[in-house]
Amino acid sequence: MKLLSIVTPFYNEKEVIEIFYERLAKALNSTNIHSEVILVDDGSTDGSFEIAKSIQERDNRVKVISLSRNFGQQSAITAGLNEARGEAVIVMDVDLQDPPEMIPALIEKFNEGYDVVYAVREKRKEGIIKRFCYRAFYRMLSKLSPVKLPVDTGDFCIMSRRIIDLLNSLPERNRYIRGLRSWFGWAQVGIPYERDRRYKGESKYTLGKLLSLALDGIVSFARLPFQILFFLGLAIIGATSVALLMCLLFLLTGISISLIIWILLFLLIFSGIQFICLGLIGEILGHISDEVKHRPHYIIRDKLGFKDF
Ligand code: UDP
Ligand code: MG
Repeated sequence: MKLLSIVTPFYNEKEVIEIFYERLAKALNSTNIHSEVILVDDGSTDGSFEIAKSIQERDNRVKVISLSRNFGQQSAITAGLNEARGEAVIVMDVDLQDPPEMIPALIEKFNEGYDVVYAVREKRKEGIIKRFCYRAFYRMLSKLSPVKLPVDTGDFCIMSRRIIDLLNSLPERNRYIRGLRSWFGWAQVGIPYERDRRYKGESKYTLGKLLSLALDGIVSFARLPFQILFFLGLAIIGATSVALLMCLLFLLTGISISLIIWILLFLLIFSGIQFICLGLIGEILGHISDEVKHRPHYIIRDKLGFKDF
């Protein structure tokens, strides 16, 4: 490998940047691979930028990008990926939850010929509620998405140049990078690791930011909910129609049916129609969002037998 890039976004992380750099430098030195480290300051206001700057002055492998305000982790990673020149790029957090000591293992697996090697969180050392929510979210999204999204994986991974070029070429704005990465296909594999606690400081993901990331994931990749709505609507109408027919039969045989039942049945029919309409609108919106995202129709792995004339 000619050049390895490390892309790390940070936001108000003055307690951890220095120790992150030390552990990263140690790990990189052990690989003997020519590398660049791109630290992306996502609008920090606590002096983190000055620390990153001092690291950059000390080590000429380090580059710093500073964003004009806080744009969010996914945008900060995008900024770093646009600048990365490496043949392979590793994306990792600054808070040492993604241990730099894993870098040699990622590279080793990558050298077996994979395009993406992602780290799979086998154990998380976080509170039980947070652990449960993460587990549930990744499993739900993976079920809802037509693309195979590996569970319990974050952005911590190594990606090949062609994956980075594809990511950089996508014009879509709400980026859920770990999902897009899977969407590209090619050879991808996970390696397990224990996710440490954050080294110091508080999580920079407020509940609002976390929910917004989760929503980006769902909106970008999940289409099943609208299909469920559509079929639920059909099922309600089907079942209500049968009940309505039975009521009419009862009526013919002289059994009277109370007004409440009739009202209930008509209400059910109308709610079924509404479900169907919502499902259709959702599907149409899904199609429109596919169009505006301009994702390529397909990505070719290889072409055989095509000759240039
Ligand atoms: N981060 C960022 N911008 C943000 C929020 C977070 O660049 O708006 C960075 C943060 O500094 C860290 C990484 O993204 O390097 C992951 O954030 P954090 O550790 O706070 O999230 P958690 O691990 O708790 O999900
Ligand atoms: Mg973290």
